[in-house]
Amino acid sequence: MAALRSLQARGLTFECSCSRLQLEDEIRYPGTCRLHPSVPGVATATRLRVEPRSTLFSDRIQGTYRQDVAGAVGDIILKRRDQVVAYQLAVVVDDAALGVNHVVRGADLLDNTPRQIYLQTVLGLPQPVYAHVPVLTEPDDTKLAKSRRSVRLDTDSALPQLLAVFSLLGLKPPDCLAAASLGAAWDWAISEWDIKRVPKRLNVRVTG
Ligand SMILES: [Zn+2]
Repeated sequence: MAALRSLQARGLTFECSCSRLQLEDEIRYPGTCRLHPSVPGVATATRLRVEPRSTLFSDRIQGTYRQDVAGAVGDIILKRRDQVVAYQLAVVVDDAALGVNHVVRGADLLDNTPRQIYLQTVLGLPQPVYAHVPVLTEPDDTKLAKSRRSVRLDTDSALPQLLAVFSLLGLKPPDCLAAASLGAAWDWAISEWDIKRVPKRLNVRVTG
């Protein structure tokens, strides 16, 4: 991929031979292979040399978010040991190639965003506007998952569930909407939509 080759040509990358097991207890990559792979002759991942600096952005919902990527996660993987391009690089290059200028997604990805902005900066790519909406979680704050006992959507009662989600997004559906069609409920929500009313929080617990 051209983006990866350009970073390599600029000397901003290094090869890393650390195994998943070696890094098991590390939240942040400790920089083991910055000079050269610590284990010669094995398949390597390619990492970006991340310099310590504060990456700051203004999220349209969550407000100002700041992270020192080097301190939080260390040198980012660009290409995995199995030669697959890593998620962070792929998402940044794809967004730029597709001309994505607004990213709206779950707040569980908020702490990934500084890595993506760091990559956009070193690659000279435009930075989209970000908006991270709260995600629905279990009462214990874990994400909803089909593999768990998570609440199921009842497809026979789409309207009440839609109105409940509108409320979670900061809208105040009037009582009369409870008897409206789905189309009318959407029309109402679109006309009332105001991103400033979306709660500035990472998650909303689902009860019941
Ligand atoms: Zn390493």
